[in-house]
This record gives sequence, C-alpha cells and structure tokens, in this order.
Amino acid sequence: MTETEHAVHARTLKVRLVRGKPVADVDALRKYHREYYHVNKQECNCEHCGQKFTSESALVRHQRSAQKCLLLRARAELEMLRKL
Ligand SMILES: [Zn+2]
Repeated sequence: MTETEHAVHARTLKVRLVRGKPVADVDALRKYHREYYHVNKQECNCEHCGQKFTSESALVRHQRSAQKCLLLRARAELEMLRKL
C-alpha cells in the first residue's frame, strides 16, 4: 500500500472514541448494542413506585437516578424505622 492509499484507507475507516477507547467500526458497535437490547428486553415494573420499563437496564438506571423513586424508598424506610 502506498502512502496516499494508506491515507485514503484511514479516512474511510470510521474510527472514533467511545468512552475513551478507539472503536474501528461505530456502525457495527451500534448494531451490536441494538440487537443485544432486542434479545434481552423484557417488561418489568419498579417495585417501589410501580413504573413500567421495557428492559432491565432501564429499571436499574431508574432505581439509581430517579428522584421520585429515591424519595419513596426513603419514606418507606423511615416509616419502617418508626414502627420499631
Ligand atoms: Zn421506581
């Protein structure tokens, strides 16, 4: 491969950084994640606030960051402690 051919080849490759790591083919990575989501999705409800989710990862993210759910859990814990 000559130097100009090499430069053209490097330009056509879609190398990008994903979370700090270089990924050779971003479209293939996107497709992989999309397929993974469709294979592993299943409906589930939050046990604390009753909200519905299409995948387990959505539920985990909700329980980690949703303010309303955190408050409901804190209130339930307080009431449990008062009863003791
Ligand atoms: Zn919740």
